[in-house]
Amino acid sequence: KYMSGNELRERFLKFFEERGHMRLPSASLIPQDDPTLLLIGAGMAPFKPFFTGKMKPPSPRVTTCQKCVRTGDIENVGRTARHHTYFEMLGDFSFGDYFKKEIIPWSWEFLTKELELPGDKLYITIHTSDDEAYQIWHDVVGIPDERIIRLEDNFWEIGSGPCGPCSEIHIDLGPERGCGKPDCGPACDCGRFLELWNLVFTQFNQNEDGTYTPLEHKNIDTGAGLERIASVLQGKPSNFETDLIFPIIEYACKESGVAYNASPKSDVSLKVIADHARSLTFMIGDGILPSNLGRGYILRRVLRRAVRHGRLLGIDHEFLGGAVDVVVSMYGDHYPEIREKQDYIKKVIHMEESSFLKTLKSGCDMLDVEITKLQEAGKTELDGDVAFKLSDTFGFPKELTAEILEEHGMTLDEKGFAEALEVQRKMARDARDDKTGRPVLYNDRDLNVAGLKVDEAAHAGKVMKIYP
Ligand code: ATP
Ligand code: MG
Ligand code: MG
Ligand code: MG
Repeated sequence: KYMSGNELRERFLKFFEERGHMRLPSASLIPQDDPTLLLIGAGMAPFKPFFTGKMKPPSPRVTTCQKCVRTGDIENVGRTARHHTYFEMLGDFSFGDYFKKEIIPWSWEFLTKELELPGDKLYITIHTSDDEAYQIWHDVVGIPDERIIRLEDNFWEIGSGPCGPCSEIHIDLGPERGCGKPDCGPACDCGRFLELWNLVFTQFNQNEDGTYTPLEHKNIDTGAGLERIASVLQGKPSNFETDLIFPIIEYACKESGVAYNASPKSDVSLKVIADHARSLTFMIGDGILPSNLGRGYILRRVLRRAVRHGRLLGIDHEFLGGAVDVVVSMYGDHYPEIREKQDYIKKVIHMEESSFLKTLKSGCDMLDVEITKLQEAGKTELDGDVAFKLSDTFGFPKELTAEILEEHGMTLDEKGFAEALEVQRKMARDARDDKTGRPVLYNDRDLNVAGLKVDEAAHAGKVMKIYP
C-alpha cells in the first residue's frame, strides 16, 4: 500500500500513542551531557539516563521520530540502497515498563496490519541465547521456525550505557535483488533482505570499563528506519527514490545537467549529494559549525564531500544553498527549526562552500604544476610529501589528488603520504589548543565575517551554542 514518508512517520507515532506512549519531539543531533558520543545516531541515545535510572522519564512509555547521523555509514551512501549519513529513526521506548511480550506482537501488528506488509516475506533474527523471544515470535505471533534465525551478532550497544539482545525484522525483497548464494539469508549484506526494525531488549548496562551489569528494570528500545520502510511501501528500488529524498536528487540533476540513471557512477554522486544535503541542513540547524575538530570536522568533511561529488558531475558553482531550500521545503513542517534557521544555515554553508571552492581552484593549479614537472622528468608517481603538503597546508583533499593523478595515468606515493602524516601527528600531539585553553572548535574570523557570535558561557560548559 503506497504511503508517503510523512504519513508513515505520523502513523507510527500515532500507533504507539494509542498504546499509551507519550510522543516526544526529536532531540537535537548534539548529544547533551554525553561525552561518549559525538552525534546522536539512534533513537535511544538521548534517553540513556532514563534507561539507567539516572533520570526519571516524563512517561514510562515514549515514542519518537529521532534525527540521526551515522558517519560510520558514509562510505556506504549511494553504494547500498539503504544507508544514509542522516536518517530518521522511528522508535518506541519502555523505561522499566512493558517488555518482550508486548513489543513483539505490536511490531508485527504495525507492519502487517497497519502498513499491510506481507507477513510471509518477513524474517526475524534473534540472539542465539534468546529463547524467550523465540517463544513469542513462534508461539504467539505464529512465525514458522525457518523464518526465525538465531545470530550471535544480535546484541545491541553503543559505547557505554544500556544494551541487550535484540530481534530484528527483515523483509525479503525477492531473489532478483540478491546475490544468489545458497546461504543467502537475513544476515547476508547483499540487499535481498532489508533490515527494517531493530527491537532491543535492554537488560544490561555496559560500564565504562566494558563490563556488563544487569539492569534493575528491563527496558524496550526499538528503532526502525523511516526511509527504508518508505522504500518498501512506495515500491522503490532504494531509499533514494522515495519522496523523502528524491526531490533533492532532482535538484542535483537540474544543477548538473546530468540525468538520473545516466550511469552508475553519476548516480552515486547524485545520491551522495542528496544524502549530504540533508545531513548538512539538520546538523547546522542544530548548531554545529564547520571546524577542524569533533562534530565540526564531521560537518566539514560531509560538506566537502558533497562539493566533490558535485564537481564529479561537472558542477563548478555553489549549489548547496539551493539544496538546503529543497530540504526545508520537504521537512520544514515536521522540523520547524530548519525553516526558522533557513537563512542562517545557508549563510554557514555559503562561507564553507565558497572557501572550499577557492581551495579546489588553487589546489588544482598547484597540482597542474607538479604534474607538468613529473611529465618532464618522465615520472608517474607523485611524492607523498607533496601530496601531504597539498592536503595539510592547502586543504586540498588527498582523494582528489589521487583522482586527478589517475586521469593523467599517474599515481600517488601512499606510503610517503602516510609517513608525512605520522610526522605531523607526532608534532601535533603535544601542541596545545589556543592560549585560552578553549578548544578550537570554530574559526573566529569566519564567524565575524558571517556576523555570528559564540555563546562563550555555554562553550565553557562544553555545549556549543551559536547565535546568529
Ligand atoms: P544495517 O545492518 O542495515 O547497517 P543496523 O543494524 O546498523 O542496519 P540499527 O543500528 O539496528 O541498524 O538501527 C535501527 C534501524 O535504523 C535499522 O533497522 C534501519 O532500519 C535504520 N538504519 C540504521 N542505519 C541506517 C542508515 N545508515 N541509514 C538509514 N537507515 C538506517
Ligand atoms: Mg549498520
Ligand atoms: Mg544490521
Ligand atoms: Mg540492526
